[in-house]
Amino acid sequence: MNRISIVIPCFNEAQALDQLFDRLDQALAAVEGATFEIVCVNDGSRDNTLARLLECQQQRDELVVVDLSRNFGKESALSAGIAAATGDAVVPMDADLQDPPELLAQLVDLWRQGFEVVVARRADRSSDSWLKRVTAGAFYRAHNAMSDIQIPNNVGDFRLMDRAVVDVLNALPESRRFMKGLFAWVGFRTAAVDYVRESRVAGTSSFNGWRLWNLAVEGITGFSITPLRIWSYLGLAVAAVSLAWGTWILVRTLIFGHDIPGYASLFVAVTFLGGLQLIGIGIVGEYVGRAYIESKRRPPFVVRRVYRSPASTTD
Ligand code: UDP
Ligand code: MG
Repeated sequence: MNRISIVIPCFNEAQALDQLFDRLDQALAAVEGATFEIVCVNDGSRDNTLARLLECQQQRDELVVVDLSRNFGKESALSAGIAAATGDAVVPMDADLQDPPELLAQLVDLWRQGFEVVVARRADRSSDSWLKRVTAGAFYRAHNAMSDIQIPNNVGDFRLMDRAVVDVLNALPESRRFMKGLFAWVGFRTAAVDYVRESRVAGTSSFNGWRLWNLAVEGITGFSITPLRIWSYLGLAVAAVSLAWGTWILVRTLIFGHDIPGYASLFVAVTFLGGLQLIGIGIVGEYVGRAYIESKRRPPFVVRRVYRSPASTTD
């Protein structure tokens, strides 16, 4: 008998919970030879998500509710849930049913065949907007070009991970957690299953453009120092060009005598280089800021309370 933990971060998901548990019940029943634990993390919801979860827990001994002290964001909520999970395998899943629970049987199958990680790959993202697909594609290309860690396009947090993988994740000391990157970083034998991403069953997405941009910056700065290193090469290139240009001006003055240069080229060069330097400082600032925050060693999340059903503590 395997024990499998489903981890669900919930932020203002009260409306989605009924449908979520209905679909989950059916999907879990289709998996043979396994018992389940459902870990729902209430990520500082401002609606009655927590109350609804506790209500659901009365009928479900397998439901564990981790209540965070405030909204820490999906990455931290997911970390909290994975840390609380006790199963032999752990499956993170969104509360809005965009990750179909019916896929679970296939994930478990491949896991039993010996794969330590089974990712769910979105064969079709047509439920996402055009803009989101294009920007997501651009992010993965940029990230993978700059980082040694390759994050596959079209793979989200929905996946099955063996206990061995989860233990490594839990032991990672960083407090800024870009989960897709960490998932890719840990490695292990991986298989993939395709699925079609559905739209949200209720409520609205909490990731607007700005939040996604920040997540993208987090992802790149968390797994690559290429943006820092570019500047040495850029500086070298600019210095080489100006040396060549300076030499040419010197030679020209010696041969053809003194002329009065226009200030336009000077002006353009100064503002252009000023801009480049500011960008460089900004990028260095990104990393210094991250090193600063990381150096405080604050935990990625704070748990207010973990609710377990009284019946579940007996096993
Ligand atoms: N979520 C969370 N904390 C947040 C934002 C989102 O725990 O601060 C959860 C949310 O409840 C859902 C999952 O993360 O289960 C994915 O969020 P959402 O559906 O809003 O994102 P999208 O699917 O649009 O990327
Ligand atoms: Mg969603």
